[in-house]
Amino acid sequence: MAEEIYMNKLDDLINAIEAEKKKGKVLVAQLAPAVRITLGEEFGYNVGEDLTKKCVGLLKTLGFDIVIDTPLGADIAVYEEVHILKELLDSKDLSYFPMFNSCCIGWKMYAKRMHLDLMPHVSSIGSPNQIVGSIAKNYLAYQQNKYPDDIVVVGIMPCTLKKFETLNTFEHKKGNTIVKLKYVDYVVTTTELAEWSRKKNIDFSQVAEYEMINPASKEGTIFGVTGGISEAFINAFAKYIGEEKEILDFRQDEKSRKYKVKIGNYELSVAIVFGVGQLEHILEDIENGEFFHFVEVMYCNSGCVGGPGQPRASDTTIEERAKAMRNCSDKIKKTTCFDNGALLEMYKNLNMKPNNAKAKEMFFLKEQN
Ligand code: SF4
Repeated sequence: MAEEIYMNKLDDLINAIEAEKKKGKVLVAQLAPAVRITLGEEFGYNVGEDLTKKCVGLLKTLGFDIVIDTPLGADIAVYEEVHILKELLDSKDLSYFPMFNSCCIGWKMYAKRMHLDLMPHVSSIGSPNQIVGSIAKNYLAYQQNKYPDDIVVVGIMPCTLKKFETLNTFEHKKGNTIVKLKYVDYVVTTTELAEWSRKKNIDFSQVAEYEMINPASKEGTIFGVTGGISEAFINAFAKYIGEEKEILDFRQDEKSRKYKVKIGNYELSVAIVFGVGQLEHILEDIENGEFFHFVEVMYCNSGCVGGPGQPRASDTTIEERAKAMRNCSDKIKKTTCFDNGALLEMYKNLNMKPNNAKAKEMFFLKEQN
């Protein structure tokens, strides 16, 4: 059902999600970071106002049973990847570098079609959206005494392209048969969420506020803006090797920038770009022999804050959102993925270690979009 309507009209999407609820499925929404600071624009709030609690309240009003913080998936992606980075650095094998981020579907779709040779350098870990979908079906389901296919996951995303992530599946053994389940069943964008609430005559200003259960780390939340992935990755790497250091230098809004960062005995070269025009320049630099350990690519202006599922905005508004996204993450006390207690507890409960077979089965994709 979901694949038939994944790009269709909002009414069809709402009907499909409501039909799942009527069938007795548990409706799980996951809230992407950039949505919480832009949804308010649809209802007359100031640009960049952090409405996380109101968003959770709205999702509950719309019938969702559970709301999960999508940045949990970002924390897991970083947690897995810093272990990979350390192993690669210590092996002295530079052939895998540069590593590219896998969380931006726009960039991955572009790479797959225009630069296929780069794909082995793009992490095969799922996006935060897909990772949280996997957690809901492979972990939360059992905590709730449910089967994975009793759970329906809806990603609340700043990105229309994320609807393509509903096509990715994993295999689940049900009795003697193997069934394919989606990590994420439906994706609703920021503007669609606003429209959905208007269609239900919900007065957003009157929606009760709810705390997000188990909010992820500050660095998982800052994924929603350019430089955020690099900040999360590098600061988690510093923590992993025992260096208490917080690097905030990546918080800039130029379309393309390059950094050298010293962490312990490692010197890391990082490039950050948004937009494919800037990406092409960096790829030219790489072709001409410039070396990077990590390249962060976001397809949209300033990252997901400027995504195609967001309210229409000028460049100035997008810059204000970028600032707000950083402020929103700064309010969170847990700094990196290593401070995310829910993550550490889940790894322990599932007897899972970074990059072991269980983690690979849960979080890494066999096929990219
Ligand atoms: S940067 Fe744009 S294309 Fe990439 S995930 Fe964010 S909203 Fe989607």
